[in-house]
Amino acid sequence: MNQANSASTLAPGHRRVSLANGQTMPWIGLGVFRSPPGQTTYDTVRKAIEIGYRHIDTASIYQNESDVGRAIRDCGLPRHEIFLTSKLWNSEQGASSARRGFEHSLERLGLDYVDLYLLHWPVPRLRRESWQTLIEIYQSGRAKAIGVSNFMQHHLEDLQDFPVQPLVNQIEFSPFLYQKELLEYCRDRHIQVQAYSPLTKGQRLQHPTILQLAQKYKKSSAQILLRWSLDREVVVLPKSNNPQRLMENLDLFSFQFTPEDTQILSRLNENLRTGWDPSHELS
Ligand code: NDP
Repeated sequence: MNQANSASTLAPGHRRVSLANGQTMPWIGLGVFRSPPGQTTYDTVRKAIEIGYRHIDTASIYQNESDVGRAIRDCGLPRHEIFLTSKLWNSEQGASSARRGFEHSLERLGLDYVDLYLLHWPVPRLRRESWQTLIEIYQSGRAKAIGVSNFMQHHLEDLQDFPVQPLVNQIEFSPFLYQKELLEYCRDRHIQVQAYSPLTKGQRLQHPTILQLAQKYKKSSAQILLRWSLDREVVVLPKSNNPQRLMENLDLFSFQFTPEDTQILSRLNENLRTGWDPSHELS
């Protein structure tokens, strides 16, 4: 996140980064993985939008697209003010099944486009034909941007000969999993990185260094982790169903780390993965 954006007077949830195709995406998004389908997800998304979130990250595998879509349709804002991502699940990969997977997502969402559509995982043998289908979906205008998730450098290289390149790579990212080389590789190719599990699913919120910095900046551990990722120019997607935490996870621009504290955080890397490791090939 550059200085200009950090100093912006826009509300935190409204500050956006430009993608390589000119579309813009809010720096902070609400993740809804393991947000229970039904009223809980609906109420969470409504609340999030009410307090200023403008970016929601769902996926067909989360089984809550219909609740997310209903909340967006009911929220009273014009559709273009919300940035919505969904993802193609592994069992839906392949040329024609990817198209069907996308159609089903749109039906469940009850919307006529998504802002970003991602290949959820780099499924061997199928990812290239799935990517070709995503390009066609993008060219039809029903996904304003397309990208990938859980792609390592060699997976991205595997798509290099396509005329349309991923605009986004959504990967697990936090000070405890500082994927610096992959981040630099993506940056050099104008691929915007998004951080999933930016709060380590809660696993490092009690880490002594994080607690010390939280005390020093009078912020929560969650805010310390999220701000560090934003400072690396990575979009953050914290998940919460708790209204108080939703507020907290938006309040990320009211403080700034000293260079020394940034370095302290950047040295916490321990390759912590709270989810599946994409270096293990999927079957
Ligand atoms: P996070 O790192 O966002 O952590 C979520 C956990 O932290 C929940 O238990 C939540 O509990 C808790 N929490 C949230 N805010 C706070 C806070 N301020 N203080 C203390 N605890 C807090 O984990 P996720 O794995 O959910 O990742 C975020 C999003 O990334 C997902 O929801 C999904 O959209 C995306 N994702 C994508 C993946 C991919 O393969 N592309 C894989 C995994 C996630 P509570 O709800 O009770 O507040």
